[in-house]
Amino acid sequence: MLRCNCDNKETFQLKLEGDVDTDPIWCGECGVNITLQELPISRELKAELVEWVMIYDEWIDWSKDRLRPNGIELEEKHNKLGQQLTEKLKQELGAKYKVAFAPSLSARMYVGLDF
Ligand SMILES: [Zn+2]
Repeated sequence: MLRCNCDNKETFQLKLEGDVDTDPIWCGECGVNITLQELPISRELKAELVEWVMIYDEWIDWSKDRLRPNGIELEEKHNKLGQQLTEKLKQELGAKYKVAFAPSLSARMYVGLDF
């Protein structure tokens, strides 16, 4: 059972979204962060999710506070991988849970691109 702040204290709507230093799974309704340990998924998939979130924001060079030269491509790669992980989550969690993917847009915001 995945606890959150929704009225029934339990969620079946999940969202995969990368963030710095946080597990990337959230309740899709109230937005509470759900720790990976609570998820009924394989250790392999948990490890993949941890790896995925560790390279979140690698497209930004924090020491210079600017986007890396290939930042847009790095972010796109990250988003593609996130999409694949969303499919794996759906497979492992089964029909009981819904999983949505929220792609990162930070590289685009950094360079001020309209999209
Ligand atoms: Zn919730």
